[in-house]
Parts: sequence; C-alpha cells; structure tokens
Amino acid sequence: MSLDNLPRFPLLLGPSPLHPLDRLSQELGGARIWAKREDLNSGLAFGGNKTRKLEYLVADALATGADTLVSIGGIQSNHTRQVAAAAARAGLRAVLVQESWVNWADDNYDRVGNIQLSRMLGAEVRLVDADFGIGVKESWEKAIAEVRATGATPYPIPAGGSDHPLGGLGFASWIRELEAQETELGIFFDTVVVCSVTGSTQAGMIAGNALSPRPRRIIGVDASAKPTETRRQISRIARATARLVGVERELEDAEIVLDDRYHGGVYGVPDDTTLAAIGTAARLEGMITDPVYEGKSMAGLIDLVRRREIPEDSTVLFAHLGGQPAINGYSSVLG
Ligand code: PLP
Repeated sequence: MSLDNLPRFPLLLGPSPLHPLDRLSQELGGARIWAKREDLNSGLAFGGNKTRKLEYLVADALATGADTLVSIGGIQSNHTRQVAAAAARAGLRAVLVQESWVNWADDNYDRVGNIQLSRMLGAEVRLVDADFGIGVKESWEKAIAEVRATGATPYPIPAGGSDHPLGGLGFASWIRELEAQETELGIFFDTVVVCSVTGSTQAGMIAGNALSPRPRRIIGVDASAKPTETRRQISRIARATARLVGVERELEDAEIVLDDRYHGGVYGVPDDTTLAAIGTAARLEGMITDPVYEGKSMAGLIDLVRRREIPEDSTVLFAHLGGQPAINGYSSVLG
C-alpha cells in the first residue's frame, strides 16, 4: 500500500500554511525558525492535528458502515472536539468520554473552550472521573458497548486517534505535503520540533520521514510527563505506520527522539517555563500557543535553539498542532 491510494474523507482546506518566525529567530540569535500551522488547517471548529488524522479514520468509519464515532480525552481535549466536528461534517453521531485528566481549578474548566465547542457541535459528552493515561480506558470500552447495545454501530477512536491502525497516516502524509512546500519555496527544514502525548503525530512524521529522499531530524517534545509510555507508543505506531506506507526497512531506535525536559512535571499543567514560552511566542510573533501542548513544545524549541542543541546554521520547523481553545479554561494563569 502507498500513501497515495489510502482512502481519505476530506476535512482539510488544503496544505497547512508555512511561515517564518523572524522576530523569534532574531531574539534567540541562532537557527532560522519557521512554523507550519495545523491550527489553520481546516474550516472545522478551529482545526488541529487530529483533523488531519481523522481524514483517514472517518473514511474507514464510513466504509465499514459505522454511524457513531466513540472517543475519549480529557475535559479540555482538543482531540474529542475535532472528533465532534468531523462527525458533524460526515453526518455521524459522536459520543465523547471526557475524563478528569487534569486537576485544574478554574471554575469554568468543564464549560468553556473545547468542551463547550463539542457540545455546540452536537456531540454527546460524558464526564467521567478518572486519571490521565494514554492507554485503553475502561470508560471508553463501556461507552462503545453502550452505543452497541442501543443498536447503533460504533466506530472506536482511541485517545488522540493514536493507537489505531490508521492513526499514523495523517502525519506520514504531512511530510509529503511539507516536501512539496519546500520545493516551492526553495527551502529545507533539517529539523522539526513537535509536541508528543499520545504519539501518532510524531510517529506518522517518523514513518513519512523514512520514505523521504532527504530525511530530517524529528525532535518530539514530551508533554505527557509520562515519557516512557509516550515513547513506547510512538515507537510502536511509527513502526506499524512505516510498514503500512511501504517503508522497506526496520526503523532504528535513533529515529525516535523524545525530549522529556519540558513537560513541566504534570500533564495539562503549565509550569513557569511553559508560561514564559507562551508569552514569548505571543509577544514576538502574535502566535498563540496553549498551556497543555504547544506552550511546552515552544518551551523546548526556544531552549534547544538557545543552547545551540539545534545548531545556528539550522533551519528548524515548529509544527504548531493547534490547541488554542483550551486557553479559555486557563484564565487564572494566562492574560
Ligand atoms: N498538540 C495539541 C494541540 C494536541 O491537541 C495534541 C493531542 O494530544 C498534541 C499536541 C499531541 O499529539 P499526539 O497526541 O498525537 O502525540
């Protein structure tokens, strides 16, 4: 199978935009930094990285006759909001399990941002008291069984759309899309910095990179604060996706790079470094990053460039994966 003939249900507006971050590059005085914007990839409910993955999963759901997407995430999950939007576009129902993954005290945390949008999009939202974890959750299995018991046909989508046979495809093709943009612009990004939690964004990139005539360094920045599990999941999904898209060699461990210095200690909670990075990107570039994911990978990017771990002569791409709706639940620390 090749990336060209895998069925997709169109949810994106086209290639996601690519632009330089000149003032940030100047401030750090090292590598040239650009961003590729998954927050601007779609007209559906603010887009994001999951919208790209869902093109493949929704096509499969429709092909297999499912009528209800059943997924899971935290209360402020960007993923479940994108599942709700994709379901609306495809004429499917969405049942979303929203677990209490983050212990956050803003009193509107379960009413604004992503969860508000999911409700507006017509999804059935179920709040469940359970801790953060990227593995298979009991609450999700229960929701799938309950949907089935009503006579409907569920299509199970795990957290982040990740631990799923098609979960890595969206970002394997992102590499292909990036290559076309590079050719057009006459530029080459030798390094990509990307946030990782459930793993299939980075895993897809690694698989796509393995198909590329000019591979680059992909640096994952862990935001799960459980990097052993995230790394294991990236590795498994990258290898399975590589096989699916026709990579004819085994991936090496060295291709799976996950930096665990910037997660701030707890999933979903920004530390001072995260908040400083969010402020820097906002004030220098007018670019908004969130406290759960992109603020942490932005903190990683800034530090790696500053320390010259990404060298001065590098041209580096920040994969902005979306996530801004969550800032509404963090007004006690942002703004
Ligand atoms: N950035 C944002 C905005 C997200 O919503 C997510 C979702 O988990 C990630 C990064 C991490 O992506 P992944 O779960 O594929 O590792």
